[in-house]
Amino acid sequence: MIKMLVCDFDGTISGGSSSGIDKLNHYVTRQSPLNFIVATGRTLSSIRDGLSGDNFPTPISIVSDVGTRIHHAENNQSDSHWSKHVERNWQPEQVQEAIRSLPFLGKQSNQHQSRYKITIEGQLDFAEYQELKAVLETAKIKVDLTYSHNWFLDITPKGVCKASAIRFLMNKHNIKAEEVCVAGDSANDSTMLTMEGINGILVANHYPEVAHLSDSKSIYTSKATHAEGVLEGLIHWQQLRA
Ligand SMILES: [Mg+2]
Repeated sequence: MIKMLVCDFDGTISGGSSSGIDKLNHYVTRQSPLNFIVATGRTLSSIRDGLSGDNFPTPISIVSDVGTRIHHAENNQSDSHWSKHVERNWQPEQVQEAIRSLPFLGKQSNQHQSRYKITIEGQLDFAEYQELKAVLETAKIKVDLTYSHNWFLDITPKGVCKASAIRFLMNKHNIKAEEVCVAGDSANDSTMLTMEGINGILVANHYPEVAHLSDSKSIYTSKATHAEGVLEGLIHWQQLRA
């Protein structure tokens, strides 16, 4: 039985028709028990704005900032256990110092920055990405790099991503991987779409950067786009895992 649905926001539940979002909301709110969670690269304030813009299902928790923050609707608080865990190895000043000399890195807009995440905008080619990695490794800085949409580079604490945040929530709710559906469309969803035992959904409008994931038998690639694609995938996995 599927007990948890985790959805990326931009390009996954958002970006398609409002009627598709209505259909998903109507369906999800009638499933019990189905915990709905949004997992996004956006900051918390930005995802709240996004969720208020249409008739989305109400998430019990929001995983924001590429997994570095978890916020619960129940008490309207960020999860302090998770924040402590994330903070442990995060040294943003050292990261900034190490990357300062790289001329090809783009701007760091305030709207995309948050406590445990540095986001840099701009196109990076393979050689530049490798040089960035090498610079961080030489400085012995342990971080994860996620480059998505051919534009956003997220630098986050090592091992902290959408997947590790979801694993934390699965433990909190005592839910197993085979009881979870995860839906996404781009590279910053890769970690959660490839979690061991998880039921993945790739919406039809996914980016080429994640097209290879369609080959996995644990990932269902929807014929429909956006929210309707999520609903199609959810129903597929519910029938298989009934
Ligand atoms: Mg997306």
